[in-house]
Amino acid sequence: MLSVKENQKYIIKTFAFSFIVLVICIVTCVLHVVDIKSNFEKETSSHLQKSLQASTQVISDQMSKSTNVLVEASELISQSSQEPTEKGIVDILNQSQKIDNFVNLIYIRRDGLILYYDGTRQNSSEEGMFQYVDVDEATTMIMNPYETANKIGLTYYIVPVYYQDTKIGELVGIKYLDGLLKEGSFQYLNQIGDLYLIDSTGTIQTVNSDQMVAKNYQSNNIYERLESIVGSSNSNRSKLVALKTNLSNEEYQFHVFQDAEGNRIDVAVMKIPSVKGMYLVHCFPDTVFVKMVQPIVFRTIVTCTIIILIMLLLLIYVWASGKRAGYTIEKLAYIDETTEGKNFNYFKEKALSYITENREVPYLIERFDVSNFRYINEAYGHIRADELLMIIYREGRHAFHDKEICVRMDSDQFVIAAKNDIYFSLRQEEFENGINEAAKEIGIKFPIRLKCGIYQVRQSDFDIQLMIDRANVARKSLMGEEKNLVAIYSDKIINDMRKIDKIESEMEAALANNEFKVFIQPKWDIEKNEVCGGEALVRWVKADNIAITPDKFVPIFEKNGFVEQLDFFMLEAVCKKMRELLDAKKKIFPISVNQSRFLLHNPEYVTNVEKILQRYNIPKGFIELELTETVFFSEREKMISIMNMLKKREVLISMDDFGSGYSSLNLLKDIPFDVLKIDREFFSESITSESSTWILRKIVEMAEGLGIKVLCEGVETEEQVDILRGIGCKYVQGYYYARPMAMHKFIEIYIS
Ligand code: C2E
Ligand code: CA
Ligand code: CA
Repeated sequence: MLSVKENQKYIIKTFAFSFIVLVICIVTCVLHVVDIKSNFEKETSSHLQKSLQASTQVISDQMSKSTNVLVEASELISQSSQEPTEKGIVDILNQSQKIDNFVNLIYIRRDGLILYYDGTRQNSSEEGMFQYVDVDEATTMIMNPYETANKIGLTYYIVPVYYQDTKIGELVGIKYLDGLLKEGSFQYLNQIGDLYLIDSTGTIQTVNSDQMVAKNYQSNNIYERLESIVGSSNSNRSKLVALKTNLSNEEYQFHVFQDAEGNRIDVAVMKIPSVKGMYLVHCFPDTVFVKMVQPIVFRTIVTCTIIILIMLLLLIYVWASGKRAGYTIEKLAYIDETTEGKNFNYFKEKALSYITENREVPYLIERFDVSNFRYINEAYGHIRADELLMIIYREGRHAFHDKEICVRMDSDQFVIAAKNDIYFSLRQEEFENGINEAAKEIGIKFPIRLKCGIYQVRQSDFDIQLMIDRANVARKSLMGEEKNLVAIYSDKIINDMRKIDKIESEMEAALANNEFKVFIQPKWDIEKNEVCGGEALVRWVKADNIAITPDKFVPIFEKNGFVEQLDFFMLEAVCKKMRELLDAKKKIFPISVNQSRFLLHNPEYVTNVEKILQRYNIPKGFIELELTETVFFSEREKMISIMNMLKKREVLISMDDFGSGYSSLNLLKDIPFDVLKIDREFFSESITSESSTWILRKIVEMAEGLGIKVLCEGVETEEQVDILRGIGCKYVQGYYYARPMAMHKFIEIYIS
């Protein structure tokens, strides 16, 4: 699972990635629009060039055609066998006119006679301008409209006519100049802009305009005309100069001008092939170009905007789902399902930040669980038990909130990081009271007691897990403890834990190596003043021959379950010795063996006891099993039935340590005990006060009334013996008579 930090990183990465994609998308779109524009410009320019080429070609072809028609007519006249007649020439003129549709077509004879294609004749002296016509080869002359009286530009096609190598006259075909531009040439340019026919001096011969550019300009010089159109900025001027200088050298020129309003005006100039000194100029306003490009650019921008919007939506979606995922991950990572509050992951991060950020404040880590939570679970059910956990969390939040934190780890395990100040125990008390009150409200009558391990945080501590582990070590040191509910982590606890580890690592081998020895403490009949039995007590005798007393290891074995093996070992060892003595025809005493409460949870317990008794064929009433009241703490009915089953095997059963815990006289009524062993602590405290002696007397009386023998443990003085004798207690066990001794010693002293 991703941690919250990892998730945040992931979201930032995804977001950054999406953002970069978005930026790339926007840049691509902008570049695309720019690209379209520039491509379109290029296309336009090349289209313009091609169109202009076509236009000039049309003009050139037209002029060539007119000239050719006249050349053919001239050749027809030249080739006739006789001197051509006037009529013959008129016929030829008429035919030629039909072919090329001249405005006028005439023949000027050397002597000045002028013949028209329609048959009329005239003397050249009357038609003034023709008398100067004298060419040696086909020639085209242009009369621009500014030069003519009626402001109509004309084109003259003049071809000499020879007869027998002598020039006899000229053919002159006349056409309107603007016809050249109108007839076909302009169509290639989509009839947009102005089209000028100019000569090499820049004089405009004719113009064809869509009236968009050249509306009100009067000059007949192309450079002046263009300047008045595009304005006289420096850049425009230098371009005009370039255009002028290159006019005769360059086949094609293209210049982009910018007028005062920022509009673009393109000017293309091209030589007309085969007509010397004639040029076609196309002046093309950018507004037209813009109009053409605009819809495409607009469509592109719309498309790009839509793409960008989609990307933006995608980005928002990524962000939103990232946030949602982050929330879910946070929920998974930081929320405890049972208490619906923060969990252990959250605790670790938060607690460490509290501790490290408030170094001037002492902190502690407390690990606690609910003592007997298993019992609550069984008695009240899981739902109620879970409710209790929620209560604990809630009360914990209430009691530890200001830079303090309390969360559940798992099952009934909780952890607190709290300020280690003088009010801590007060807060802890309020916390536990709060839990108990709330628990009562949900019907849990059982007192809720917390087993707490505390670790006091040091300045040098940075490893939160280590601090928690240490608090847990302290908590674990309370295991098996009933009274003590708080343990503070200390070197002693660590030492104890080490000892426990050592014992646990050695116990199995010790049992196999016979290091566990049976010691017997005699029981004394004070009426007869003689030994009446013994209690088997274990000693761990290692290689150094020092006997370790059971308080050092039995509680550990009770926690880890090894006590079961030990108790059976003791029982078997006692039975084995009894069998040896019986076989040797020796006297034996009833011997009691301590039985841990864990034994009884084994369903095979009764059978196992029976097997041992049978194996050594022990006579009835010689083995006594000592059980403590804690055996009956849980599953009372089941325990009672086990007792009854044991009774049938005819072993004796004694209640050990009576008066040390929560002794219940009820137990005496329900369970068929043979012996009641009064705990040494009860006895030593009680014996001094009169009322205690009275209570003891009543217990003895009541037990005897129920047919139960009473034995007092821990008798150390004669005074105690006297008092006991006085209250009718018959049996005692204690250092006053004898200490526990090795079994062979017991046999030595009391049997052989
Ligand atoms: P317990 O069953 O109450 O055993 C009596 C303890 O009192 C013995 O301690 C005995 O030495 C001690 N004692 C006897 N007379 C006197 C006296 O006059 N004054 C004082 N101060 N003490 C006296 P021990 O042998 O150290 O055993 C301690 C406990 O260990 C036993 O208490 C019993 O609960 C447990 N234990 C011993 N052997 C076994 C065993 O084989 N199996 C199990 N499950 N527990 C055992
Ligand atoms: Ca005992
Ligand atoms: Ca005892």
